[in-house]
Amino acid sequence: MQRDQGPPPRRDDPYISLVIPAYNEKESLPHLFERIRDALQGKSYEIIFVDDGSTDGTEQYLRELAMQESRVKALRFRRNFGKSAALQAGFNEARGEVIITMDADLQDDPQEIPRLVEALDKGYDLVSGWREKRNDPFNKTLPSELFNAVTRLTTKITLHDFNCGFKAYRRAVVQNLHIYGEQHRFIPVLAYWQGFGVGEIPLAHHRRKFGRSKFGMRRFLSGFLDLFTVLFLTRFRFKPLHVFGSMGLLLFLAGLGINLYLTWIKLQGEAIGTRPLLSLGILLLAMGIQIFGIGLLAEMITLFSTRESPSTRTYEVLGIPRHVAPFPGPRYHAPKRPGPGSGPKPSQSGTPSAQQQQLKERPPRPVGQSQNQSQGQKQGQNQGQNQAPNQSQGQKPVQNQQRNRPQDGRRPVAAQPGTTDQNRTVEHGRPTQPPKTPQQ
Ligand code: UDP
Ligand code: MG
Repeated sequence: MQRDQGPPPRRDDPYISLVIPAYNEKESLPHLFERIRDALQGKSYEIIFVDDGSTDGTEQYLRELAMQESRVKALRFRRNFGKSAALQAGFNEARGEVIITMDADLQDDPQEIPRLVEALDKGYDLVSGWREKRNDPFNKTLPSELFNAVTRLTTKITLHDFNCGFKAYRRAVVQNLHIYGEQHRFIPVLAYWQGFGVGEIPLAHHRRKFGRSKFGMRRFLSGFLDLFTVLFLTRFRFKPLHVFGSMGLLLFLAGLGINLYLTWIKLQGEAIGTRPLLSLGILLLAMGIQIFGIGLLAEMITLFSTRESPSTRTYEVLGIPRHVAPFPGPRYHAPKRPGPGSGPKPSQSGTPSAQQQQLKERPPRPVGQSQNQSQGQKQGQNQGQNQAPNQSQGQKPVQNQQRNRPQDGRRPVAAQPGTTDQNRTVEHGRPTQPPKTPQQ
């Protein structure tokens, strides 16, 4: 979206930056590094490991690896600051045009990275992984389902798996993110509300082999608290008075009503000095004024914080070439906007498992689509097929997708009828049929 921000890519910048937070993952890291190397052979990439205050020797391993491998950069927190802080640190250091985040515990499969990059190339700004067949114990998957359901309900974004650590971002997205606390769970929400196109694809997910999970029920509680922060920041970030003002006004009017009533009674000659209602009326008046005042202060803070701040820019300058300099060496092709012929392509590396093979053929799924949209989408797909008879199955055009901007100035709707992937049936916002496989 906002390609005018940040320095332009340099000649020696890698195309892909992998950002991998690691907290006590010493045993997994050597395997992970090997697998990434295998999966990305011949590609232009860097790996940024962020040691989030580990105490198990992760630091020593990463220090040595960074000395030996020019592609590896290792960051270290002096104590455990949490996954969000670790990801943010990685984002700050990433130089790639495409940023991939993944967990360090081998649950995410590096063989899936090319698929994520391909999905971005269809015109998304962020593609989130969906652990459709999640290999985690019940006590993790159940709270996670609940969390996803609540987040879907409150944000109206129809992703299945907000908290999947495996995601691909365009550079502009991470340049506009500033995550802290437990906000890594809400990255798709934060990006979507900034106007970025968000999609999702199902990805392979493995059982944890070494170490143990760092997130329990307690973290989910704090995750829900962060949901309030995110909702406030996304909906009212630029109009805090709309929250505080209306709340303050409501309390003030209630207090005013009570006090007017008491005044009228007093004028009738009745004593009101000992009535509890009087205290309530005065309390409501005072609270109303205070909360309204907080809203005004928040507006002023918003005014000053948005002034001249490139990180809050929500526009892009059109007509600037994406790459000011060509990238050296083998790399992925430049991201394209969706258009005829930009269908899914077969992966080039590795021999994926049966599960991967099945997941692989799924094109990214845009968020925010309703059932009606899906129905219309199917019709549009049929039309699209009629219009482009020369294209083979699996190579159908993917049109407009997240890029459709409503005419009435509302924020972008993720998917519109008659657009997006033609290789799968989507009903109730859920995929129901695997797509037809392109002949490889
Ligand atoms: N992680 C981190 N800091 C933390 C907790 C976790 O960097 O405070 C990393 C962790 O090392 C792993 C990723 O975040 O690479 C996901 O953590 P985990 O596998 O424990 O989460 P789960 O898969 O159980 O949800
Ligand atoms: Mg894990």
